[in-house]
Amino acid sequence: RAKDAGRNTLRFFDPDMQQAVNRRALLETELHNGLRQAQFLLLYQPQVDSRGHITGAEALVRWRHPVHGMVSPAEFIPLAEESGLILPLGHWVMETALRQQARWRHEPHFAHLSLAINVSARQFLQEDFVAQVLALLQSTGADPAQIKLELTESLLLDNVDNVIATMQALKAHGLGFSLDDFGTGYSSLSYLKRLPLDQIKIDQGFVRDVLLDPSDAAIARSIIGLAGSLGLDVIAEGVETTEHHQFLLSHGCQAFQGYLFGRPLALEDFERQVLQAR
Ligand code: C2E
Ligand code: MG
Ligand code: MG
Ligand code: MG
Repeated sequence: RAKDAGRNTLRFFDPDMQQAVNRRALLETELHNGLRQAQFLLLYQPQVDSRGHITGAEALVRWRHPVHGMVSPAEFIPLAEESGLILPLGHWVMETALRQQARWRHEPHFAHLSLAINVSARQFLQEDFVAQVLALLQSTGADPAQIKLELTESLLLDNVDNVIATMQALKAHGLGFSLDDFGTGYSSLSYLKRLPLDQIKIDQGFVRDVLLDPSDAAIARSIIGLAGSLGLDVIAEGVETTEHHQFLLSHGCQAFQGYLFGRPLALEDFERQVLQAR
């Protein structure tokens, strides 16, 4: 075992592990090509209200690699963050999502849809992030009131004042903010109070075991209560069963996202689901 080979020796005897290392190095170099060759696409996962009506979607990026097939963002987003490629990739995601919202904006059956876009810390902390978003709103014609940017708590590790200033600048133009994966990071309640948020998202890790694990249930209920007292909307992600849904609903959660209501879908499939549900 590599572990037994001595403290300062790094050896990969495990062929699976070697394979994982190779794949990682390969993917990092190929992210570059992937961007140039338009191998990325967005999927749209429904978000629903308490009655189950679709109110919008979260845009989730996928990488369709010519050899490796669909690569999960859980795998390539961290690589893109390390290598800095998250900046052009994030810009592509933003532009593509805003262009989509601009199309929906003028279609009666889709005009009500909001669109949530994930923004990584590194992307958000760029000095010209506000200018980039404003330029894209201009060039695409998207309605900022229907756009929600999803941030994670990792953003709050430092630069809280910068983060707040950037959020305020964008909010002044009508954009909304959601705090993703809430409860998994480091944010303190005092930050939560200071951030100009519109919504917090209960992490799917708490939702998953909400019926089995009393402490997860307590956390989920506390987050719902906290959101209420701070005047924020709350949405639960990872809602897979009617039992999850009923539990969260009975404790005051009003918005939901998860396989129970729809997987992340190709654009045509998402639009079909919206039309069918009318
Ligand atoms: P996230 O933003 O927390 O997105 C939710 C993830 O949960 C998505 O995984 C979604 O497919 C998955 N999910 C949704 N409903 C369910 C459910 O009922 N059960 C289970 N088990 N999973 C569910 P996905 O699409 O693989 O994305 C993973 C993460 O990658 C995202 O987590 C987000 O942090 C990141 N990501 C995705 N797209 C982008 C992007 O465009 N930019 C950035 N910066 N990050 C992105
Ligand atoms: Mg998200
Ligand atoms: Mg999340
Ligand atoms: Mg997550």
